[in-house]
Amino acid sequence: MSHSSIYGLTYEQLQSWLMEHGEKRFRTEQVWNWLYKKRIDRFEDMNNVNQSTIDLLKENFVLHTMAEEIRQESKDGTIKFLFKLADGNVIETVLMRFNYGLSVCVTTQVGCNIGCSFCASGLLRKSRDLNSGEIVEQIMNVQKHMDERGEEERVSHIVVMGIGEPLDNYKNLMDFLYIVNDDGGLNIGARHITVSTSGLAHKMYEFADDPIQVNLAISLHAPNNELRTQIMKINRAFPIEKLMKAVDYYLEKKNRRITYEYIMLHDVNDHKKEALELAKLIRNHRHLAYVNLIPYNTVDEHIDYQRSSSENIQAFYETLKAEGIQCGVRWENGADIDAACGQLRSKQIKKTKAV
Ligand code: SAH
Ligand code: SF4
Repeated sequence: MSHSSIYGLTYEQLQSWLMEHGEKRFRTEQVWNWLYKKRIDRFEDMNNVNQSTIDLLKENFVLHTMAEEIRQESKDGTIKFLFKLADGNVIETVLMRFNYGLSVCVTTQVGCNIGCSFCASGLLRKSRDLNSGEIVEQIMNVQKHMDERGEEERVSHIVVMGIGEPLDNYKNLMDFLYIVNDDGGLNIGARHITVSTSGLAHKMYEFADDPIQVNLAISLHAPNNELRTQIMKINRAFPIEKLMKAVDYYLEKKNRRITYEYIMLHDVNDHKKEALELAKLIRNHRHLAYVNLIPYNTVDEHIDYQRSSSENIQAFYETLKAEGIQCGVRWENGADIDAACGQLRSKQIKKTKAV
């Protein structure tokens, strides 16, 4: 292994690695503590660890693989970070403040191949997956930024809703989840972590079989195949019937509530007809369903799409409620700083290309 991020290893992987390199078992806990509790920036700072172990780690790992390129802070406390990766690619990470705590939205891939017709991230095809270290490092960088502010604020929630399709980068996603969830480290509760997928049904089975108890969100956005295929071409490969079969399996295995994300696109999917159809689609498991209505953030390149009016959003919400569906409207954070995931990045790339 050459200089890869140490944050990419789960506790067990770090333990095996250290022991294979002649270290005692108890070292793992010490190193883990320095990494995730004390959050050191240099291996040399692990002052109860042997110099030889420090040297070994330095020879094989790094603590930084990305650099902060831009940081924008919104009036509502949202902070958007643009990080430059070792290979020059840029990704974005967003910190949001809620009354229940600090939530970070992480990126899992450089670009996205799913190519949903309304999304800024999908404009740029995937150039590669992020490795687990790069996903964890986003959380570490945000947490370290909060540490520097000295207000003892802790990242308590994670949404895997940044650029990329998490279930298309499955192994790295799972390692990431186990690393941030570890109770001797960042200890971010599984129930405080949400993974959002565009509906890769085959991977949802695998996800259901994994014992970790994180939340699942599905980007549904339309209640029938015709409309869904029109706005999300992935629906050809995984049409609604296949998706709902995977949902049944997930619910049977996990018995955990699923969130259905539904972007409100003016005069596309925001009529009463679609609200009724949506209610019908999830009626059978409505006790384990929550619909999140997301007012669309306009993207310059997608001129055919506009945000639904507040009246239409309200009416859609009322229809769902009247049908006994639990739902809410997700009003955005950071409206003044390129809020929608992928927007800051795509703007930055355009700027770079323009010069
Ligand atoms: N690829 C995954 C996770 C990242 S996208 C997925 O699609 O679920 C996270 C959420 O943001 C998805 O529900 C996505 O549909 C939504 N989204 C994408 N572009 C948006 C925009 N311009 N305005 C509002 N929501 C958007
Ligand atoms: Fe990819 Fe999600 Fe954007 Fe679709 S909405 S292009 S799956 S990031």
